Amino acid sequence: MLENVIIIGAGPAAYTAAIYTARAELKPLVFEGFLAGGIPAGGQLMTTSEIENFPGFPDGISGPELMMNMRQQALNCGARIESKTIDRAGLSDSPFLVGCETEEYQCRSLIIATGATARRLKIAGEDRLWQKGISACAVCDGALPMFRNKPLVVIGGGDSAVEEALYLSKFASKVHLIHRRESLRASKAMQKRLLENDRIEIVWNHIPVEAVGDKFLTGVKIRDVKDHSEKIIESSGLFYAVGHIPNTIFLNNQLEMDDLGYIVTRAGTTHTSKIGVFACGDVQDKRYRQAITAAGSGCMAAIDCEHFLSEE
Ligand code: FAD
Ligand code: NDP
Repeated sequence: MLENVIIIGAGPAAYTAAIYTARAELKPLVFEGFLAGGIPAGGQLMTTSEIENFPGFPDGISGPELMMNMRQQALNCGARIESKTIDRAGLSDSPFLVGCETEEYQCRSLIIATGATARRLKIAGEDRLWQKGISACAVCDGALPMFRNKPLVVIGGGDSAVEEALYLSKFASKVHLIHRRESLRASKAMQKRLLENDRIEIVWNHIPVEAVGDKFLTGVKIRDVKDHSEKIIESSGLFYAVGHIPNTIFLNNQLEMDDLGYIVTRAGTTHTSKIGVFACGDVQDKRYRQAITAAGSGCMAAIDCEHFLSEE
């Protein structure tokens, strides 16, 4: 069967594109993935607690609740949603093909909204102690008994790192925030909360070099980037918050990407290098990376797609 539009992804960008294309009577088929990139359908906001900056919720809303609302709205508008992870795409000719294991689907247009996945650092001991003290999601794992009243380490200097440190400070005896520079990338509002929290200590100009421990993490070896001296911080938890990698592997370089792997879109639009293929959300945005901008670009992709199909 030839679909008008297939949407790949499950975050604010994909569900917004689904709402708009469904309301335009394009009968979108959404592949929301099954733990694609280790993230549940709903995207990155499924791994966080309170969202305070998405307009329309004056008292905030939990990330999972916001995403389940968006998903339900897409269904209510007529989108069809499949919990399958797309593992390949054929974009050389129209109709385009997308595949999932043994199944293949054809479409006249494609919207890619696959977001981004948390980056790992590949330090010594990381593979062995992953999920045995090392995590990339404090909100998912931080409340586990193994981390309660223990010293913990967070790596990074962006909003995620600050948010994770603040969250962990509710359970930990102490949180060390290790950052490779001497200023934070996080927003001023988040920095203020961090600096006011006396259970968090910032360790400037350091990087982690080894996860220490036998069966479970017991410490993190860090290195001073200036004098290269090393020391071990006692810790039961190591939480990475060092940015994300765009989820584009299934495209096998068939679209133009930038040097970090983000899909290149034509300025002010969601058009990619392939006519009829559109990209929205964090998979094409390394600058803003917010739920509201992802949702906004999902709307843009739906409108660009609708124009493309009607001109076709
Ligand atoms: P994502 O949310 O990344 O979702 C993409 C989805 O596509 C995922 O579910 C993934 O599994 C799926 N997928 C990937 N590959 C495939 C495939 N091949 N087939 C099918 N499905 C696939 N922003 C804010 O505005 N406010 C906040 O308070 C805030 N807090 C945050 C807290 C944390 C811890 C993090 C990590 C981010 C936060 N952000 C916040 C940023 C925000 O979550 C992202 O900007 C937004 O979720 C990006 O939306 P997206 O739709 O582009 O993709
Ligand atoms: P960012 O890319 O903003 O920050 C990543 C951090 O990790 C940077 O401080 C970076 O250091 C550091 N880092 C990267 N690579 C390494 C490495 N190899 N070794 C050591 N440190 C490293 O990612 P975030 O996940 O923090 O944020 C992504 C987006 O999500 C942002 O737009 C952010 O605003 C948004 N967000 C918003 C929230 C909110 O509004 N409440 C909460 C969480 C995220 P350096 O600074 O030196 O580059």
